[in-house]
Amino acid sequence: MTATAPITQDVLTLPRKEAETDSRVNLVGLTRAGLAEALRDAGTPDKQVKMRVNQIWQWVYHWGVRDFDAMTNLSKAYRAQLADHFRIELPEMVSRQISDDGTRKYLVRIAGGHEVEVVYIPEEDRGTLCISSQVGCTLTCSFCHTGTQKLVRNLTAGEIIGQVMMARDDLDEWPEPGVGTGETGPRLLSNIVLMGMGEPLYNFESVRDAMQIAMDGEGIALSRRRITLSTSGVVPEIARTAEEIGCMLAISFHATTDEVRDRLVPINKRWNIESLLEALRAYPKLSNSERITFEYVMLKDVNDSDEDARRLLKHIKGIPAKINLIPFNEWPGSPYQRSDWKRIKAFADIIYKAGYASPIRTPRGEDIMAACGQLKSATERARKSRAQIAAEAGLK
Ligand code: SAH
Ligand code: SF4
Repeated sequence: MTATAPITQDVLTLPRKEAETDSRVNLVGLTRAGLAEALRDAGTPDKQVKMRVNQIWQWVYHWGVRDFDAMTNLSKAYRAQLADHFRIELPEMVSRQISDDGTRKYLVRIAGGHEVEVVYIPEEDRGTLCISSQVGCTLTCSFCHTGTQKLVRNLTAGEIIGQVMMARDDLDEWPEPGVGTGETGPRLLSNIVLMGMGEPLYNFESVRDAMQIAMDGEGIALSRRRITLSTSGVVPEIARTAEEIGCMLAISFHATTDEVRDRLVPINKRWNIESLLEALRAYPKLSNSERITFEYVMLKDVNDSDEDARRLLKHIKGIPAKINLIPFNEWPGSPYQRSDWKRIKAFADIIYKAGYASPIRTPRGEDIMAACGQLKSATERARKSRAQIAAEAGLK
């Protein structure tokens, strides 16, 4: 997409009013079972619960309705009863920046005043929303901007699916009455990647519930093949991801020896390359999905030699794989440099000649710091020190 609009930044909302003191249960993020229980607790007769879940689900997730009064197939009295007990509320969009390449970066405020970033990347035949699963991250990958920020908290399922709903609001993509989703051509928001802030597999249940809402055919209805979860390698949760979510998997591989991976992705000290590969070999069968994406950030003179490329091929032998080379996105104070283009091309060439797809990820939204690994809340104060980051990177 070649949008020519200059960078724009709009502050869209004022601080939210009474939301944090509102004791009504938020329906956004409840699973079908959770919604059934909530409706029952609020006095819905047992034999009606299933039908009511279906009706409300469609209003909220298919039509994007936020007001019980608009749910016209429910009686007025029941709508009023619902409004007494429940609310339908998304995280609050604080600002939106639009890059000159069309990428949109949203700053989103969640309960407690914390903020996360969400990025929308339009492409010719699809649009991908990169969503966050945590505020900050417990892990300390030394090339990642989010890794410099301590974990503040896990997002709830409602805050995770809420990012998707918020983006659909912004793109004005809820279906018109009488028109099914997808009947009007390719969707603007057609894919989700869990590649924003945080390690999704350290917030498993909420991520799972949110993605089940995204995949539910009566609502947002995205195919599991259009959802990609990226993990740094939380090995014990990988089989569970296959069984309970079944989405596509991406792995932040980034190094071909344990010595280097220990420095770049410190979770490697806990689960090393071999144990990670073992879990990955089992994934495609368990999840019935196609290829696993190996993400590989290109860091000058750290992990970008021909030898690294050849070692990488050896590691992934036998795993249906695609390799995604990510030119390192620098951030203020980052301890690494991006590999030269010539080097990235040479690395890609070795992979390609071995028969693998090896796309080089074009950095998007660089002018608004929206690229992978650059996301970081502007307001969080709980920072790791520079010295700590350098020490973790093995540079001091
Ligand atoms: N925590 C998860 C998902 C979020 S990061 C994970 O680590 O997989 C999404 C991707 O961006 C990961 O592959 C991550 O390693 C990569 N990344 C992080 N910082 C980066 C940077 N500065 N430049 C390029 N890629 C980066
Ligand atoms: Fe966390 Fe992923 Fe960044 Fe590592 S790369 S610090 S796991 S967000």
